[in-house]
Amino acid sequence: MANEYIEKACEQFRALIEEQLARQEKMEMGATPKDFKAMDKIVIGIVGGDGIGPIIMEQAERLLRKVLAEELESGRVELRRIEGLTIENRLALGKAVPEDVLTEIKACDVLLKGPTTTPKGGSLESANVTLRRELDLYANVRPVQVPEEGIDWIFYRENTEGEYVLGSRGVEIPGKLSMDFKVTTEAGTRRIARVAFEYAAANGKDRVAIVTKANIMKKTDGNFTRICHEVAALYPNIKADDWYIDIMTANLVNKDIRNQFQVFVLPNLYGDIITDEAAEIQGGVGTAGSANMGDQYAMFEAIHGSAPRMIEEGLADYANPSSIFKATEMMLRHIGLSQKADKLAAALTECTEKEKRVVVTGFADGATCREFADYVMEKL
Ligand code: NAD
Repeated sequence: MANEYIEKACEQFRALIEEQLARQEKMEMGATPKDFKAMDKIVIGIVGGDGIGPIIMEQAERLLRKVLAEELESGRVELRRIEGLTIENRLALGKAVPEDVLTEIKACDVLLKGPTTTPKGGSLESANVTLRRELDLYANVRPVQVPEEGIDWIFYRENTEGEYVLGSRGVEIPGKLSMDFKVTTEAGTRRIARVAFEYAAANGKDRVAIVTKANIMKKTDGNFTRICHEVAALYPNIKADDWYIDIMTANLVNKDIRNQFQVFVLPNLYGDIITDEAAEIQGGVGTAGSANMGDQYAMFEAIHGSAPRMIEEGLADYANPSSIFKATEMMLRHIGLSQKADKLAAALTECTEKEKRVVVTGFADGATCREFADYVMEKL
């Protein structure tokens, strides 16, 4: 019986290696990034998501309609609502991203997306993992700031490989063993390292922390570290430091040293975990936005998930929309509307820094999601 599983697993393993090599070769060819400034029209897809997703997204869309009033009026920007990326629809169709939804998404230039639920176990892949792969959104960019402590971090998390690329396609011998796979490619690592160092160089940063577990994951993380250093050599004014993920999680809670870190580059799983920790230091996951960037598409989101516990506890209306508002700000910057992004950033800072009493906490003693949005919109 075990032999049968082994034979099947070997066949599957060969197919996975061939598929991943083909992906690496495609990446090696590179792509030309989209030039939003040169475009006559930009289509922004609005995807509600699950749980607290539609609640925060409703406010994000209101905000966007106010900030982009002129562009919407002139037709330079179109907001296009995309339905169907709900857990109910995905489960009913057995598709992480249903075909028709994917087609609609690919017809947009950028996406503003609410969080989507992924069931534990089973074989339904995360909608995000699918979208990141389908749209080749290789850089997950997550800024975290605590001005009073001098913290100004930006995380460049590799977004298309690591443990995630084959996360739903592991091997199992029931009752005996299970194995998942982690993949690191040359081209995949080089491109995330390149954008991290490029950001550092363009923004006057002189340190980049390369965070891995290369002492244990010698092949994947070992190569990730090597490639990051090869890229670092192209930026002689930037110091590249190696860190292990375990000590880095400790560093982030060490008030004596944490404000020395600036830019982080790290593989997918570590980036996923440590950015939640970082967001908590900023004020909670409800305060942090994120960008999933590729050369052709980009998707902007809150860093958190669909928060099913908030729904169960009747706190959904108190979900903090700051996370998706920060993502909106990042999106405006990405599509070349920096002045609008600055205006939104200033309004958010005024609300969260100067008016702490209305900062939504996720608990019923704060303002509701809508009240907070009204407050931000008054400042615009
Ligand atoms: P979660 O991030 O959804 O929520 C964890 C806790 O964080 C909540 O219970 C709440 O206390 C707090 N929180 C989250 N968002 C908040 C907000 N806007 N305001 C105030 N407090 C907030 O994490 P989870 O419960 O581990 O995951 C739930 C689901 O979301 C899972 O199915 C997971 O796969 C999915 N998920 C999706 C994304 C995404 O779509 N980008 C990201 C992470 C998790």
